Amino acid sequence: MNMQTNTDFTLAIEELTVSFDGFKAVDDLNFYLDKNELHVIIGPNGAGKTTVLDLICGKTKATSGSIKFLNNELIGLSEHAIVRSGVGRKFQTPSIYENLTVLENLEVSYPHSRGVFGSLLFKRNKTVLDKIHEIAHEIMLEQMLDTEAGLLSHGQKQWLEIGMLLIQDPQLMMLDEPVAGMSVKEREQTAILLNKISKGRSVLVIEHDMDFVASIAHKVTVLHQGKILATGNMDKVQNDPKVIEVYLGH
Ligand code: ADP
Ligand code: MG
Repeated sequence: MNMQTNTDFTLAIEELTVSFDGFKAVDDLNFYLDKNELHVIIGPNGAGKTTVLDLICGKTKATSGSIKFLNNELIGLSEHAIVRSGVGRKFQTPSIYENLTVLENLEVSYPHSRGVFGSLLFKRNKTVLDKIHEIAHEIMLEQMLDTEAGLLSHGQKQWLEIGMLLIQDPQLMMLDEPVAGMSVKEREQTAILLNKISKGRSVLVIEHDMDFVASIAHKVTVLHQGKILATGNMDKVQNDPKVIEVYLGH
């Protein structure tokens, strides 16, 4: 087969399949992501969206196919090695440290920090603090640096987790339903945040809220039964008869 070879892709997924006891949750998927691209995957429940992210981050092992990140094969690497190579993933439930302050949460996520116990014992240096302030500003939590994370609103907790990924400066950032449970105002602020984040890296988002998708997506891919039903800009995808039939029509 004539494979597409372009070294400029951040992510190049080819012929990716995962089969769970014979059921193909992802079925011969081909998917490409450019630098500075914010791509949203939509589709009905059970379409395989989360599984695609699980495959990219190494949580689920592929049955066959290839996932190249900056031209390096990810399949076979450990989850830890994939994170270190520059892939950040935000899960649906935020994994923040509720008993630490916003500042401390960002600090323990700083690359080469000594982890949650070690880093708190070391004197904070200016480079780290400057970076923490820069990220806190970006995630709209600059005024909350000394607040315990457990006291933040649901939306602010999501932003903090995004900040904890951003401080590691991933080249690919993946977010699974980032605005679930957020207020309208928080959704709008998150859209602005994601637009900023996509400058200089690639962002892959799974989302259901179509207004939110329309406000952020450069490109949309509709997944259905582990296969791509349609891909392109929002307008094209929204008006695709197949998409209306299996997804948007309901
Ligand atoms: P989506 O995120 O699009 O709602 P998922 O990727 O979570 O869908 O799931 C796709 C399908 O794969 C579902 O039928 C789900 O039950 C199945 N699935 C996902 N992960 C596993 C697994 N680890 N073992 C068995 N089946 C799984
Ligand atoms: Mg899912």
